[in-house]
Amino acid sequence: MDKLEIKNLHVCIENEETKQRDEILKGVNLLLRTGETHAIMGPNGTGKSTLSETIMGNPKYQVTEGEILLNGHNILQDSVDQRARLGLFLAMQYPVEIKGITNAEFMRAAINARRPEKSPMSIREFLSDLDQNLALLNMPESMADRYLNEGFSGGEKKRNEILQLMMIRPKFAILDEIDSGLDIDALKVVAKGVNTMASPDFGTLMITHYQRLLNYIHPDQVHVMMDGRIVKTGDASLAEKLEAEGYAGLRDELGIQV
Ligand code: ADP
Ligand code: MG
Ligand code: MG
Repeated sequence: MDKLEIKNLHVCIENEETKQRDEILKGVNLLLRTGETHAIMGPNGTGKSTLSETIMGNPKYQVTEGEILLNGHNILQDSVDQRARLGLFLAMQYPVEIKGITNAEFMRAAINARRPEKSPMSIREFLSDLDQNLALLNMPESMADRYLNEGFSGGEKKRNEILQLMMIRPKFAILDEIDSGLDIDALKVVAKGVNTMASPDFGTLMITHYQRLLNYIHPDQVHVMMDGRIVKTGDASLAEKLEAEGYAGLRDELGIQV
């Protein structure tokens, strides 16, 4: 079993107008093990994407206190590439477009970077995997030869993040609003892709606004984040309660003033 542990994480971002550092995460604690699926829910602007970008190592986000441990090793000094090689994967809320590298080239490079002690994956094995996963996600074969995310629609980008996930097979995936902007059919396809990853060697952290996604990907734990902290953790029923009562209900219950 692998463990991703976030301890007392404080993160600042420089405000571009005032040049002041704003504290966005104010002491986040979380323990995710392989074999588990966790969801983080919370209102807009509470720091959910900040948490995912910080786990993956985006240098814009400055850690001022706390640790992120992967099997006891603090990854905070590791680059994004190193973190990917250690088995972390982020499906970004807004995937970036990269001109000049095709989707297939990107995935092959990412897969091979994770197996330095083995020989690179054969082209034949790669293509057979790719065909299978494209079919499962109802994606045309041509998607693999296009430049990464360039000109992809919102829904295609989300699907493509899941294609990468299925090809790269990380230990831990953080899925940041993988459901946003998807119609119900696309949502089911994306959920099917994520669900095929389920194994004792894989852990997921799903970030979402909506309970809807959790009807298709069932979380073991649901965390609610407000104002840079996890204020409540429960099982899947917590998401249903939130859907029914809104974040205002939880604020009242916890006595949080905003
Ligand atoms: P969420 O994903 O929960 O909607 P974010 O993590 O995106 O929240 O944002 C949390 C807060 O940090 C917001 O107030 C947002 O304006 C601010 N923020 C996020 N990213 C940046 C950035 N790159 N530069 C400046 N402020 C940012
Ligand atoms: Mg947001
Ligand atoms: Mg976000």
